[in-house]
Amino acid sequence: MVIVLAGAAGAGKTTVGRALAAALGWRFVDADDYHSPADVAKMRAGIALTDADRAAWLATLHGVLATAIDRRESLVLACSALKQRYRDILRSNLRGVRFVYLKATESTLRARLASRAGHFFGPTLVASQLVTLEEPRDAQDAVTIDATWPPEQIIRAIRNEFGV
Ligand code: ADP
Ligand code: MG
Repeated sequence: MVIVLAGAAGAGKTTVGRALAAALGWRFVDADDYHSPADVAKMRAGIALTDADRAAWLATLHGVLATAIDRRESLVLACSALKQRYRDILRSNLRGVRFVYLKATESTLRARLASRAGHFFGPTLVASQLVTLEEPRDAQDAVTIDATWPPEQIIRAIRNEFGV
């Protein structure tokens, strides 16, 4: 099984994802680690990525999920997956890929990114993330969880939801 933690920058995908994977004894993969150097340079400069920029990244991540499922390896992926199309690419032709959308307001995201150090994604891109964001169409697309809950509570909710 694959659980994808989705949401805008600052929603807590990496924090919650890493802790969830540790609790489950699953592998953790952070989609940020799969961006090309050119994409990272763009984001550092405060320039939002386009669909075209994201296409190769999403294809690579789909490959990571496909390989894990093929090997019957469970993993947690932290990946913004802002648009329905992106989520559909990640799960295409795969069984057992489930999405959690960590929902947060713009002010929460800004406050968190302003205090987070050493990451290429600063608070200036939050507005563009929220323009790009397409919230889940239903719980089959992604289960929505309040990103302001404490991480332990989010993890409990995810484990209850998926029975893991
Ligand atoms: P993302 O990977 O979605 O960009 P991070 O996991 O890096 O987000 O979290 C952004 C900041 O918010 C970090 O400083 C993190 O410690 C903090 N944070 C994440 N989740 C929570 C939470 N549930 N409650 C409070 N702070 C959180
Ligand atoms: Mg992250």
